[in-house]
Amino acid sequence: MTEREPRVLIIGAGVAGITTAHVLRERGFTDITVLEKGSDVGGVWYWNHYPGLRCDVPSQIYQFGFAPKPDWQHAWATGAAIQRYHRDVVEQLGLAELIRLDTEVTDAQWDERRHWVVTTAAGEELVADFLICATGVLHHPFIPEIPGLADFAGPVVHTARWDDELATDGKRIAVIGTGSTGVQVVSALQPDAASIDHYVRSAQWILWAPMSLRQMPGVAAVLARLPKVHRTLYRLMAFGGSRLLTDVTTRPTWRRRAVQAYARACLRIQVRDKTLRAKLQPDYEPLCKRQVVSGSYYRAIRADNADLVTDDIAEVTPNGIRTADGTHRDTDVIVLATGFHAHNYMRPMRLHGRDGISIDDAWAKGPRAYQMTAIPGFPNLFTVLGPNSPTGSISLQYTSELTARYIAQWLAKFRTGELTTVEVTDQATTRFNDDVAIAMGPTVWNTGCNSWYLTEGGNVDLWPFDRATMKAMLGSPDPAAFHLS
Ligand code: NAP
Repeated sequence: MTEREPRVLIIGAGVAGITTAHVLRERGFTDITVLEKGSDVGGVWYWNHYPGLRCDVPSQIYQFGFAPKPDWQHAWATGAAIQRYHRDVVEQLGLAELIRLDTEVTDAQWDERRHWVVTTAAGEELVADFLICATGVLHHPFIPEIPGLADFAGPVVHTARWDDELATDGKRIAVIGTGSTGVQVVSALQPDAASIDHYVRSAQWILWAPMSLRQMPGVAAVLARLPKVHRTLYRLMAFGGSRLLTDVTTRPTWRRRAVQAYARACLRIQVRDKTLRAKLQPDYEPLCKRQVVSGSYYRAIRADNADLVTDDIAEVTPNGIRTADGTHRDTDVIVLATGFHAHNYMRPMRLHGRDGISIDDAWAKGPRAYQMTAIPGFPNLFTVLGPNSPTGSISLQYTSELTARYIAQWLAKFRTGELTTVEVTDQATTRFNDDVAIAMGPTVWNTGCNSWYLTEGGNVDLWPFDRATMKAMLGSPDPAAFHLS
């Protein structure tokens, strides 16, 4: 059999794309190009730079297993520090030469000559044997349709497209939305605002953690001197963290009840005013939505210049916001912390697979992939952090690495001439999704709240299994689940 090097295109240079490029190169693949529409790497950490942005996962866990960083300044790193880390990793591992920035993919079409034809926004066409979509989950900002929003006289900014020139000090600010982002941005803007109105449609449980804590002195020096110990510690912490979170979210154990009790205590202890506390009290179980963590929000919302508004927004006027009870609050700046179209994945890119099937048609009933990575009708295409990825339970860096290693095994078969195309069967995908639906039953995400985890069809788009199951599933490809040619 003749050896031939697969031409690989990876879309996206965030956590998933960087991991995939690194893993494939490590496995000896040489024809790899990463297309990134942003002007720098980092994905969400490039696009998001709103005030107060921090990762709510401890920094010593929120990093690549193949590039642990000893010298994080904070125990929970700032968004800017994490973006810099991604840039440094790309430079240090020599991945920069594979990455083309400012290159947006608009179309990708499977050609019956058995390759992908990819078109960029600049009109350039590229051809690849394999297309890997590492396009992220929290990517396309969701802008709510609120009457009058377009006619507001002042600035309106979505947190994921923050304008660094925007002046907020001394202004009357309205923040809409209370996910992890809304809570962070309110905490950051409140101290210097003239006033801040936080519009909350559904209250959130907020776990207290000392988010602005610095990494303990001496830790960086010790970890830098002992890289093997650092890697082992990283693995242990990532393993322990995933295990705890999986246990707490997927099974109704005493550990889940303990974390829920902690969430309730955080509210009770930090908010003594009964009227305010009642407004902050969610009507669903803690952990049902993606858990919000903050060490400063309750302090910020208790401040004299802060107001928690739980009445529905009726309309935006040119100079403020009117709620359903008729109250009008004057506002200089509107901040939309309203989240993302979390189930778009690679869309709005126009993606067409075998026999011209579009991704919109393939996913008419919601996003669906086999083991997060393969889609029936789309040969030689894989997703990394695709549908059912474990946001909120298992490390996304670890998941990306396992998925990339899995994909590398298919590429190796192409390289040795064992196959030209690989496409997951519909039956295998249905079987996987049936197993997911059953496993989703006892999860906390299924206990009756409205969250971005839910697809339009009402399915929870998360990973309901544990880490060991993920490792076993992505260990080696099962040829019976695929059509090969
Ligand atoms: P989100 O969790 O989806 O929250 C969106 C918020 O906007 C919700 O409170 C929602 O209310 C509200 N909203 C949407 N449309 C509205 C409308 N028309 N009127 C009033 N309120 C409206 O989005 P996010 O806060 O950006 O967070 C998304 C995810 O990003 C997080 O869950 C997390 O995974 C990640 N994230 C992580 C960090 C970190 O520190 N690691 C930081 C930020 C974000 P309802 O709940 O009523 O729908």
